[in-house]
Amino acid sequence: MKLLLLIIIAYLAYRVVKSWVMRNLQAPDQNGARHPSIDDVMVKDPVCGIYFPQREGVALNHGGQTILFCSAACRDRYLKEPKHE
Ligand SMILES: [Zn+2]
Repeated sequence: MKLLLLIIIAYLAYRVVKSWVMRNLQAPDQNGARHPSIDDVMVKDPVCGIYFPQREGVALNHGGQTILFCSAACRDRYLKEPKHE
């Protein structure tokens, strides 16, 4: 019985992850395309290259555009290395 429960949980988790990945693959990669459902969009950290949910990102206003980082540490690194633009 315990094993069955584990399988059901694993299956549900798989479905959630799969639908989540599919949505992100279909997300348009456009600048300034603000939308309420942008909450689950994955964005790439320009410093470490990691992908993270946009709502969990650390925002930085840089030259009129908002850049998102996975953590404050990456944001600080970005500010210390002004090689971008
Ligand atoms: Zn990062």
